[in-house]
Amino acid sequence: MNYQDLREEVIDKSKCFFCGACQSSCPVEAIEIKKEPRLVGNCIDCGNCHYVCPATKTELDPKEIQNYFSAKSKDSSLLKSSQNGGVASTILKKLLERNEIDAALAVGEKNWKPTSEIMTKKEEVIKSAGTKYGVVPLLKKVKEASQHGKTAIAGTPCHIKGARLLKQKGIGNIKYLISVFCMENFDYNCLINKELNKRGLNKDKIEKMGIDSGKLNVEISDKKENIDLSEIENCVREACKYCEDFAGEYSDISIGSVDSEEGYSTILVRTEEGEKVIELAKNDLEKKELDDLKLVKKLSKIKKK
Ligand SMILES: Cc1cc2nc3c(=O)[nH]c(=O)nc-3n(C[C@H](O)[C@H](O)[C@H](O)COP(=O)(O)OP(=O)(O)OC[C@H]3O[C@@H](n4cnc5c(N)ncnc54)[C@H](O)[C@@H]3O)c2cc1C
Ligand code: SF4
Ligand code: SF4
Ligand code: SF4
Repeated sequence: MNYQDLREEVIDKSKCFFCGACQSSCPVEAIEIKKEPRLVGNCIDCGNCHYVCPATKTELDPKEIQNYFSAKSKDSSLLKSSQNGGVASTILKKLLERNEIDAALAVGEKNWKPTSEIMTKKEEVIKSAGTKYGVVPLLKKVKEASQHGKTAIAGTPCHIKGARLLKQKGIGNIKYLISVFCMENFDYNCLINKELNKRGLNKDKIEKMGIDSGKLNVEISDKKENIDLSEIENCVREACKYCEDFAGEYSDISIGSVDSEEGYSTILVRTEEGEKVIELAKNDLEKKELDDLKLVKKLSKIKKK
């Protein structure tokens, strides 16, 4: 297996999730991701890019859910900028504070365009909290982040599957994998520059976006608009239609909003590393018991169809 196989099986079939893992996996830096992963050097047929790609059929066992609950951050400044309970950012912040990691690789933004960010200070984590609707090749910075030392990665399920495969190959210094739930994602230009702009929702003024009950809610200073997801279906990345993972099945911890009350996040702990992270962050989180995972189960099933 080599780059040509990756191109034929994934990229040319519009199944590329745009995660960035292939670029990081290449020992001769022959892959570059701009609009899509391209061959820019001499492929030596090592097979890494095909192996780590979350869209190929590389075998990988999902991590079963060991424990689940609802929680929100006790840090009120973080709650203002975070998406739900601010749990993803609280965890990254705590891991940095306790020197459990040297860097966090997570998603920031510029004009609502998601960006791959290497964060070594807790202030950087707080600044980048919140969901940005747009795909981003987060994992292309795995080696750069790992130069700082032990790294935690926080992203969507496709990022986390790619990161788990990179970890399995011994690429980078990946310590913790934190996934957010994800039903679908969008092309930035189509969503922000076209669909929202034509509705008078200028990216400079957007304060927050979120998806709830089949609608994209966009908040700007003087109005709040709810757009039916069917109206922006054309902006959903084609590859997301092939994705079968809603709840980050290869992560140490998965975090989302469904099944929890407003302002809280649903946390699924999957591994020993996940348990350790929750133990470290326990005094920073206000926890609540969760009766069941009705919506997590329902949405996971829908995505596997
Ligand atoms: C594209 C997308 C779709 C989602 N769909 C659902 C859904 O259908 N149901 C549901 O319950 N939850 C969904 N979520 C998760 C939800 O929006 C929150 O991210 C989650 O509840 C964590 O909230 P928090 O307050 O703990 O996170 P915060 O503390 O606000 O941290 C946000 C985290 O999300 C990551 N992130 C932000 N934008 C992106 C991006 N574009 N790509 C990858 N990672 C990103 C950041 O790295 C950061 O670690 C989705 C998230 C994304 C990014
Ligand atoms: S050298 Fe390996 S990782 Fe790089 S393009 Fe070729 S097969 Fe892929
Ligand atoms: S590894 Fe990620 S970016 Fe590369 S082809 Fe696969 S899905 Fe696309
Ligand atoms: S739907 Fe799947 S492929 Fe698309 S962004 Fe979410 S996790 Fe990635």
